[in-house]
Amino acid sequence: MPFRASSLLCCLLACATVLMACGRTDAPTTPPSTNGAAATTPTDAGSSKPDVDRAMAHLKALAADIGVRSSTSDGERNAAAYVKTQLEAAGYIATLESFEVDTPIRRTGGIELPDGSITIGTPFGGSLEGEATATVVFGEFGRAPELATVPSRGAVVLVNRGEVLFAEKAHAAQATGAAALVIANNQPGPLNGDLNTTGIIIPVLGVSQEGGQVLRALAGRTVTARSASTRLRGRSQNVFARPSAAPCTAYMGAHYDSVTLGPGAEDNASGVSLLLELARARRTDGVCVVAFGSEEVGLVGSQAFVRTHAVKGAQFMLNFDMVAKLTRPSFIGDKTLADRASAIALTHGLEIPYTASVGTNASSDHASFTGAGVPALMFYAGDDPFIHSGRDSFDNARRDDLARFLDIAAEVLAALTTR
Ligand SMILES: [Zn+2]
Repeated sequence: MPFRASSLLCCLLACATVLMACGRTDAPTTPPSTNGAAATTPTDAGSSKPDVDRAMAHLKALAADIGVRSSTSDGERNAAAYVKTQLEAAGYIATLESFEVDTPIRRTGGIELPDGSITIGTPFGGSLEGEATATVVFGEFGRAPELATVPSRGAVVLVNRGEVLFAEKAHAAQATGAAALVIANNQPGPLNGDLNTTGIIIPVLGVSQEGGQVLRALAGRTVTARSASTRLRGRSQNVFARPSAAPCTAYMGAHYDSVTLGPGAEDNASGVSLLLELARARRTDGVCVVAFGSEEVGLVGSQAFVRTHAVKGAQFMLNFDMVAKLTRPSFIGDKTLADRASAIALTHGLEIPYTASVGTNASSDHASFTGAGVPALMFYAGDDPFIHSGRDSFDNARRDDLARFLDIAAEVLAALTTR
């Protein structure tokens, strides 16, 4: 999920005024009063308590009944229809917003040897796709002085893993004019990695130790190194729901798609289930709800959303991604929002620290809003080894953990919408 939002849209004016002026749509017209004195409106007047069993029913419908909901699939479409129906039943004006998906989903690579056989190589994240046919030269660990002593210009440069960072090897190889870089593992198994740098415009492939030995024996011979990606093309959709005709002054969202390998119970039927139940119980004028499609293939749905809606100027965006299996929870995104949410979580007996981001190559839909200038906060229960596999099924979600996140989210929402 390594995408960053790029588009900044026009500003929604007077958001603060609108948000202050509106109450919850289901709030009673007359605040309760017991003694005839001027009553103050309780923060959650008229709203119902979020019910974790309703949320668990959504989770079952999405992860068990619908199952795999991968980008552009029928499962994804069915899930969108389910989410739309649920939001309409909760009183929202809901629409499906279709968008195009055309994105690389899998990178493949290899080195074709003089005898026509292929040594499998894995393209490094951060390197360019492409093909280079050239002689193999061996450049030790890929340090600049090592590469200076071999004819690396125009060559497929083979180096060993270790001693210096992958990024340093890649920059050094590129600087000497290498056509491609192959890094051989120094431990068993394939070498998958990320360069964690920018500006590398040659193919960089990782190969196993055995692959490295085969290539080294071919030094001086001509090989072809290839790095390519498979693209996913089709249509997907977001579900956009407004509590009333009032403009959106804040957003809550979660992605409802899964990967192809499993039914995505924790990632992210859990977040959608929380979203649906919170939206039902705490329908608030101005707080719009978005269930995103195609997050797993690169935040495509939320990117499409921030491109086509004037989100800039919104007060906040709350994103729920993986919230039913408590491991190492964190609040990710905007520090100010996270601090407020952490304080609320503490009153629920849960220490949820702030984290700036999930990691260099992982993110979620809040990042699209951050990129569009909206303070955004992601609720995250922590990493789970079962996600993105068949084991992330309904049994992988824990009712009690979801209940805690649902309660905390409801209180955070109340705090952010109460003046
Ligand atoms: Zn997710």
